[in-house]
Amino acid sequence: MTRKIIFFLLVFFFWAMPVYALDIQVPSEVGRGEPFWVEISSDEKLTGIMVGWMDREFAVPVDQPGAQRILLGAGLARKGAYELDLVLYRDEKSRNKTFTITVKDKEYPEQHLSLPEEMVTPPQEVHDRIARDRKQIRSALGSLTMDRYWDGDFREPVPGEVSSPFGVQRFLNGQPRSAHQGVDFRGPEGTPVKSIARGRVVLTGDFYFGGKTVILDHGQGIHSLYMHLSRIDVQEGNFLTSGEKLGEVGMTGRATGPHLHLGVYVLGDAVDPMYLLQR
Ligand SMILES: [Zn+2]
Repeated sequence: MTRKIIFFLLVFFFWAMPVYALDIQVPSEVGRGEPFWVEISSDEKLTGIMVGWMDREFAVPVDQPGAQRILLGAGLARKGAYELDLVLYRDEKSRNKTFTITVKDKEYPEQHLSLPEEMVTPPQEVHDRIARDRKQIRSALGSLTMDRYWDGDFREPVPGEVSSPFGVQRFLNGQPRSAHQGVDFRGPEGTPVKSIARGRVVLTGDFYFGGKTVILDHGQGIHSLYMHLSRIDVQEGNFLTSGEKLGEVGMTGRATGPHLHLGVYVLGDAVDPMYLLQR
């Protein structure tokens, strides 16, 4: 008898949790390689949001009133239906919402490049170095900081025009290579390269393919990567404001001319930076 009453009380307690108006804007479809925004507004102030996307989970602290914007994305290799799980907290109460987002195929152009054979097929003695480089870069891009350092929009790192867009399927001397994971900006050597948003320097190094490289962590799974720099002006652990100089355009690593390769990553997946940059 008593057990029954407790059971009913519990059921009533959960059933009777007050309902507040919520407006959640989520795209139902995105193209592979595209970043997208999730916007959440509520008539009662939320105290926190948990986001689950592509097998990663992170908490979004709600520190200001108004609509909350969360930046997510789908990498080039993604295809099909994915679930976005949101848990919305208001003090001790929470609500779960699940959305299905379809990642559609998207065509990207092809680019055919002719390079000296030794640049296309790296010599055996650098294979270990390339594997080490890749591991270090992947690990920096996969880190997940709960704080959000970026605020508002992203800005261009250099003023130059785009010489090679994101997603291009590259053929080197006729051999297919992995798709272009970033955007190349043309620019004379020595052009200052600026951070696209506020962030912390998590990796600097000189890599076989990328040359002098800087990776910034913008928090909540967002990273930016800058390659082929002629010089690096920052150190790991430095905090940079949006638009702060981090180095200069160069052609270190595998590059046929001076340019900046900019990558933007969401939870470790490369997405097209041009959707985010203010031009
Ligand atoms: Zn590039």
